[in-house]
Amino acid sequence: MLLKGKEAADKIVAELLNEDLSNLTLAVFHPLNDGAAESYLKTKEKWLKKINAKIEVVPVDGKMTQDEFFRKLETLNKDTSVTGIMVELPLPVKIPEKELLTRINPFKDVDGITYFNQGRIFTSKNEDLIPCTAAASIKLLEHYRTDFAGKNVVVIGRSYIVGLPLFKLFLNRNSTPAVAHRGTSDLKNLVHNADIVAICAGTRGIVKSSEIKDGASVVDVGIHVTEDGKVVGDMILDQENEETRINYSPVPGGVGIVTNAMMLHNLVQCKKMQ
Ligand code: NAD
Repeated sequence: MLLKGKEAADKIVAELLNEDLSNLTLAVFHPLNDGAAESYLKTKEKWLKKINAKIEVVPVDGKMTQDEFFRKLETLNKDTSVTGIMVELPLPVKIPEKELLTRINPFKDVDGITYFNQGRIFTSKNEDLIPCTAAASIKLLEHYRTDFAGKNVVVIGRSYIVGLPLFKLFLNRNSTPAVAHRGTSDLKNLVHNADIVAICAGTRGIVKSSEIKDGASVVDVGIHVTEDGKVVGDMILDQENEETRINYSPVPGGVGIVTNAMMLHNLVQCKKMQ
């Protein structure tokens, strides 16, 4: 079966429409002259409109200094008209990661990346504010009624924005997740024995569909653009009709669309936390 994202995303948005959506504003630090960031910004604008939220774009060019960045961040942190803050990486100005993860107001942290929110993820079962892509991957599997308890899971990738929080979300559901990374010695074996494979490596071809066992589910978080302009995921489909043998999320049309819906969810969650 194909794990398509649209229905799950629509459901998340429909649920949000029952919430208090007044006065929502997302501030975005936006790198200038960056084609990918430009398209992310357009996508954010399109999705924010669905819940009538505003966007405040903070353009960042190569001339912005670290001091200027942090002064602006501090202003947004305190501005009561700003509900959430996102920083589109990479920025042209170098910001030490630790500073970023400690200086965003945790109650405006739409990406769920600050030490406070990461700490909350790992020390409780609270799932109110999870990094959007990790939350989206679980929502997508849940939408298709995936069984989690007692299942062998492999999460490929250990970034704090996708792989690590996803690992904890599987644990919360009583799965047995393994986290694979560049130092993993026998990835093929882990993948072969997994009931659920979450691929968040950003490496095209790290998994081939033929390596997935019958009936298993795959969420593919990777996004790549091929030379002929096609958007594809991390997994290569090396056999025909795989959707009749395994469950997998297509790219595009899988996790990405649910990630956008989770951004809206997290923005509303920030408002509640404030
Ligand atoms: P990242 O580069 O920060 O992390 C990648 C992780 O994968 C690292 O932990 C690394 O150890 C692991 N990895 C990479 N190659 C590996 C290999 N050959 N074997 C084992 N482990 C390997 O990336 P990220 O920010 O976590 O994003 C991962 C992917 O997800 C990227 O392709 C990115 O474009 C995509 N992404 C998608 C969405 C979405 O909404 N669908 C959102 C964010 C990121």
